[in-house]
Amino acid sequence: MVASRHLRFALVATLAATSIGVASAQPRTPPREISQVTGDLYRARNGNWYTVFLVTPDGIILGDPINETFAPWLKAELDTRFPGKPVRYVIYSHSHFDHAAGGAAFAETATFVAHENMLRNMDGRYPQMPGDMIDRNDNGVIDREEIDIPTNTRPGVCGMGPGFFDGIDRNGDGVATPQELQLHIVKPAIVYNDRMRIELGGKAVELVHPGLNHSNDATVMVFPAERAAFATEFIADALVANNPRSLPSACGPFDGSPLAEWIKSYRTVEALDFDLMITGHGSMLVDKALIRETRELFQHLRDEVAAGMAAGRTLEQLKESVRLEPYKDWANYERLRAYNVEAAYRNLLIYR
Ligand SMILES: [Zn+2]
Repeated sequence: MVASRHLRFALVATLAATSIGVASAQPRTPPREISQVTGDLYRARNGNWYTVFLVTPDGIILGDPINETFAPWLKAELDTRFPGKPVRYVIYSHSHFDHAAGGAAFAETATFVAHENMLRNMDGRYPQMPGDMIDRNDNGVIDREEIDIPTNTRPGVCGMGPGFFDGIDRNGDGVATPQELQLHIVKPAIVYNDRMRIELGGKAVELVHPGLNHSNDATVMVFPAERAAFATEFIADALVANNPRSLPSACGPFDGSPLAEWIKSYRTVEALDFDLMITGHGSMLVDKALIRETRELFQHLRDEVAAGMAAGRTLEQLKESVRLEPYKDWANYERLRAYNVEAAYRNLLIYR
């Protein structure tokens, strides 16, 4: 039973990860469901991508719309289950296309809210992107190689699945502009800097920007009455299926954010008042202790790599010697340990 469940989630994650953006392929609908977390707080699933919503007497506060095929499905479900309670707010966990697209389904009734850096990431310049997909030739548009290099260097972990570039190059001219990439993302109408509180129908959600990590425009949603929080990616990235204690993907030099900022992000979340973490990936709900444990992993990694560098060791030597011993039972240990060391090494060279 347990084994088959694990297998199913692994397959789901693979299918979802390889089908993003393949507009021309026959659409394969990932598993979708809505489950109650506590009280009026729910989690909604699209394959291994998850969002959250809170139902109030005056309407619904929704997290990510996820994408343009999931969002209309979710809207129809909400209209049926909660008639007369339209989505009043859409709150983006971050600006990346695989979580933030699809908002048009809610645009008639909802106000879109995000951290202020999301506007920078949608102003027409090359946005901060996941998976080491960066503007390597600095020409301001997304070239095929800029997807293919990380995809082929670390298949299944960084970059995207096959066919992704052709899906975002919507006019087929051989380059993808940031506008083409973000075609289905509704810009936020309200942005905040550090923290923000939204009240609706006698209920509340607090928005917290944790700092720089997997993205540069993250928001953590805290539901004080429900004692729950929702966050994506830097808490559980797309490789997390059923075990949240997982080594991070570590694409590029840790997604272009200083390790000190990652660690600060976890400390910020640790200081928030909640018990239950709802993640954007992974089948499970997570105990708050995970946040501290993940912060300790980042500190352990940074400290060991920094000490080795100070002792004059090379990257190749560090990839052998930094064993991350306390984390050998975590998911993806064998697959990602050496990459974590390399990403930390490169990160410390840039940001030290
Ligand atoms: Zn992301």
